[in-house]
Amino acid sequence: MKSFTLPSYAKLNLALRVVARRPDGFHELVTLFERIDLHDDVSFAPAKEGAFSMVCDDKRVPCDERNLIWKVASVLVKGEKVHKGAKIVIKKRIPVAAGLAGGSSNAAAALQGLNKLWDLRLSQAKLLSYARMIGSDVAFFLYDVPFAIGTGRGEMIKPLAVKAALWHFLVVPQAPLLTKDVYEHFAVSAQSFTNTGSDVNIILRSLEKNDPSGVGAGLFNDLEAPILVLKPHLGKLKARVLRHDTLGVSFSGSGPSVFAVMASEKEAQHLKKIFSRTYRQVFVVKTK
Ligand code: ATP
Repeated sequence: MKSFTLPSYAKLNLALRVVARRPDGFHELVTLFERIDLHDDVSFAPAKEGAFSMVCDDKRVPCDERNLIWKVASVLVKGEKVHKGAKIVIKKRIPVAAGLAGGSSNAAAALQGLNKLWDLRLSQAKLLSYARMIGSDVAFFLYDVPFAIGTGRGEMIKPLAVKAALWHFLVVPQAPLLTKDVYEHFAVSAQSFTNTGSDVNIILRSLEKNDPSGVGAGLFNDLEAPILVLKPHLGKLKARVLRHDTLGVSFSGSGPSVFAVMASEKEAQHLKKIFSRTYRQVFVVKTK
């Protein structure tokens, strides 16, 4: 088997409703995922029996058992009795701990990549069951679709047959947030389980009509309250983006990424230019 490279895309949450806290401590969600074209590259190369190594060009990413790719390799080695080795190289473009699911997406790429490199021939159902063992956002990336509804912890995926394509402006401030901390603060934040009246179905209907204005108007994220408890200054960033000509603004996942739905690529580029004066990580991204 020769070496090969897989793209590993990021996601945005166009909607995120926290439904309940479960007895196992996790939260029950309904979320609308969008895959975007911002991506890492994950390369896979064969290695000597039992030899596994990984490197990443971003120093903040641990390249040991804490890395989700490492976890994928361990569960596959154990579960499928693999003796082969692998050398993995990650080229990082997705900001880390940003609510864009970079680690989860890398894990999905690793499931697909190692399945191929080690010639395991695992079915999609088997890959999904491994994905759910690794993390809540991993399963979405195993479906080759731009939009999907996630329920449970976000790991039960219903792919959507919608053809919409959205342009976004995305700004990632230097304020890494850990998903775990944000959920811990959800319980104590003012919003606990109150329904604000927003509904995933409203955005869904706008997506079906390929109506970016409707999507923008319907954006919501129940994690906004705990994000702002942990990092109050992020409210100012969101307000600042809202003062510009956008179709809607929200946080992605557990933050701190703030994204806007834009009417066109040109308008997204215009916002990028303005915010690049004060923020280092600004992007124009689209549905992938
Ligand atoms: P999610 O939206 O799934 O919670 P996120 O975008 O908020 O994810 P990640 O970029 O996945 O966050 O990183 C969260 C933590 O996971 C980081 O602190 C990092 O140390 C760790 N991590 C483990 N594996 C990876 C990986 N392959 N890429 C990036 N971070 C990783």
